[in-house]
Amino acid sequence: MAQAAYDTQYGDKLINDSADITFDCPKCGFKSISRSRKARQLSKPYTCPKCGFIGP
Ligand SMILES: [Zn+2]
Repeated sequence: MAQAAYDTQYGDKLINDSADITFDCPKCGFKSISRSRKARQLSKPYTCPKCGFIGP
């Protein structure tokens, strides 16, 4: 699971983190592939660390 970022002063979860997503690999079902909001905006491809599946 992606590391959650919290405001160190108030303990609130950072808004940017809500834009991050974690999902399962569509090929092998490996969980917890994470993509940041920035990666999604740039349409970066992802690679499954388990089976090597690459795709959006
Ligand atoms: Zn996979």
